[in-house]
Amino acid sequence: MPELPEIQAHAERLTVEFGGRSLASFRPIAFTALKTFAPPPEAAVGRALTSVGRRGKYLLADFEVVTFVVHLMQGGRLKPDEKQSAKPRGGLARWVFDDGTALLLTEAGTEKRAGVWVREGDLEAQEPIEGLGPDADTVDGATLATICASHSTRLHGLLRDQRAIAGIGRRLANETCHRARLSPFANASKLKRDEVERLAEAIEGCLVESLAYERSRPDMSSSKERPGHVHHRAGEICPVCGDVVREVEYTRYTVNYCATCQTGGRVLADNTTSKFLK
Ligand SMILES: [Zn+2]
Repeated sequence: MPELPEIQAHAERLTVEFGGRSLASFRPIAFTALKTFAPPPEAAVGRALTSVGRRGKYLLADFEVVTFVVHLMQGGRLKPDEKQSAKPRGGLARWVFDDGTALLLTEAGTEKRAGVWVREGDLEAQEPIEGLGPDADTVDGATLATICASHSTRLHGLLRDQRAIAGIGRRLANETCHRARLSPFANASKLKRDEVERLAEAIEGCLVESLAYERSRPDMSSSKERPGHVHHRAGEICPVCGDVVREVEYTRYTVNYCATCQTGGRVLADNTTSKFLK
């Protein structure tokens, strides 16, 4: 799933390419795509796209009076739509501008979960933005210490909890824990002050690195292309210490870690242990 750096760079690209254009029409192609009924998307017709911003993993397409909040979920993409075919593959919704160009929201796979919310007024007080934690790129050591102290959960889970910290997903949770030399299974509330400081530095480092990579591209990367040391690299060599990258599989995600760097050499990936970890 695209995370903060991928969404941020994509928002910047969309602003450069489509900013200033006026909306001619918005059409949901799949009936599940539009998650709201008021205000109607037509409220944006005739209005200019002032910018595409980001909050957490959401894109915010601002049309002066209303904002289209877009979540790409796992396989969603929001891209220029040159063909504008009647039934685009995986098509969920289309924005057509008055110069004839268009943006198309698509989602790969059968599980259609990407969506569009039309909102006016304070986004922070309305779904789906309401309740999100602070953006990961704004969290300093002191804020992170407060967040960790109030969450007696595994660190990997806390990092992915959008209500605690917004913008981090499975990949960045793995990479951040590795960079901070912290166990993904550590209880977040029990982290020491210096560990939280390392975590804050690791979050920043991973975000900066990923954002720089993403900004160097003409379009959003695939998950395989994104920089990293451990995510989806089980069996490969840890570039920091030379140990083998391990994994623990859960139903919806995989935790990758290096035992030497992160768990004091303790291996948690064998079948017996991983069952306990669920
Ligand atoms: Zn290592």
